[in-house]
Amino acid sequence: MSGKTPAVLISEDDIRRRVDELAAAISRDYAGAAEVLLVGVLRGSFIFLADLARRLTVPCRVDFIAVSSYGDSTTGGEVRLILDVRTSVQGRHVIVVEDIVDTGSTLTYLLRTFGARQPASLKTCVLTRKPEGREVDVQVDYLGFDIPDAWVVGYGLDIADRYRTLPFIGVVDPAAEVAGISG
Ligand code: IMP
Repeated sequence: MSGKTPAVLISEDDIRRRVDELAAAISRDYAGAAEVLLVGVLRGSFIFLADLARRLTVPCRVDFIAVSSYGDSTTGGEVRLILDVRTSVQGRHVIVVEDIVDTGSTLTYLLRTFGARQPASLKTCVLTRKPEGREVDVQVDYLGFDIPDAWVVGYGLDIADRYRTLPFIGVVDPAAEVAGISG
């Protein structure tokens, strides 16, 4: 670890307020639905999803998936599902909950995968998006924050599995972090 606390990009208060707003928007949009299925993408979305789910006023189910990406994530490697939902998606109102959209390849893959399973509807809820890094113009229905093209950690997000439990979203220098691991 570099030993430095990541510089705050989005404070705990700002996250709380924004998650409230997202939950209110989703609750409003799905007010007539019997239930929504929140599909969290492990592992980065687990804290965001936990907070979001508890603020919804519409009934919801929660399930998780995990993906792995091959190749360079900065150039959008090949994405593969390594853990699938246990809930049947057919006929359900599905919202894919993701921590971050960078190149857009992960979310594009997930929309294609879940879209093929005949959900009643399919939307995405994304905590952060890096507009400058985006290569694929991917559908984001509910967005927390547009962020600059930096490596962010905290509130579920990590670098080499660290910093996930920080209450805020902060910026780290990936080169310093990697040097800290090997040194
Ligand atoms: P994609 O490029 O949109 O497919 O995003 C790929 C994945 O890269 C995300 O789901 C994250 O796991 C990871 N990622 C990209 N940028 C960051 C970051 O700044 N912090 C933590 N994880 C990131």
